[in-house]
Amino acid sequence: MQNNAPNFEVLRMAPENTNSVLVTRGADAVIFDPWGRADAWDELLAARKLNLRAIYSTHGHPDHISAAPELATTHNVPWFLNARDNALLGWGAELLEYFGLPAIDASAARANDLPAGEFEILPGVWMHAIAAPGHSAGGMMFHFPDFKVLIAGDTIFADSVGRCDLPGGDMCALRATIARLHEMNLPDDTFVVFGHGMNSTIEMLKQENPYFGVAECGHGHCCHGGGCGEHKCCKD
Ligand SMILES: [Zn+2]
Repeated sequence: MQNNAPNFEVLRMAPENTNSVLVTRGADAVIFDPWGRADAWDELLAARKLNLRAIYSTHGHPDHISAAPELATTHNVPWFLNARDNALLGWGAELLEYFGLPAIDASAARANDLPAGEFEILPGVWMHAIAAPGHSAGGMMFHFPDFKVLIAGDTIFADSVGRCDLPGGDMCALRATIARLHEMNLPDDTFVVFGHGMNSTIEMLKQENPYFGVAECGHGHCCHGGGCGEHKCCKD
């Protein structure tokens, strides 16, 4: 009997760096943060007889989109990225070069805007797209409440947070994003997929991440609920 239950799988495509996520239900598939070469993804999809339906990126850094433009074109499927990160397309070419991956043609890369909201990404698989500015301006996290999965991108890691010194980065916004995530009070056994490295759970984040649950930017100004606003405290 074919198991038609939705399945979430973290994939570390060569050259190992980024955590991609393959979500499948039956023969339908959606990819999050497609790192690596598009032809490697093509081979994987063909070997498993999967039909790609859409691609989502947590943010616009090259290590979270490298295969997306080509896969979207080849499979004629939408690629979703928050429009605030469109400015990053084509940025950071040296990272792809370092990993021996082809450059992204920013003029040909077309992403569909992904606003915050709830979306049915596959039949019966509902995703809550959460605005998560900080690591980049258009960063998003993807929560699947029915499956207790959170795809966090580079916003937070097991015991640290994403860097804020790249274009569009903002430490105050990142702190506010993490404070909002903490306020969501997700179940402890929610599986958290980070953009890089070992994955974790909300319970482990509570125990091991000193940033999780901290509402202050650390400079004495309250960053709670949407960034400093009047203070540029974290940009010095
Ligand atoms: Zn990043």
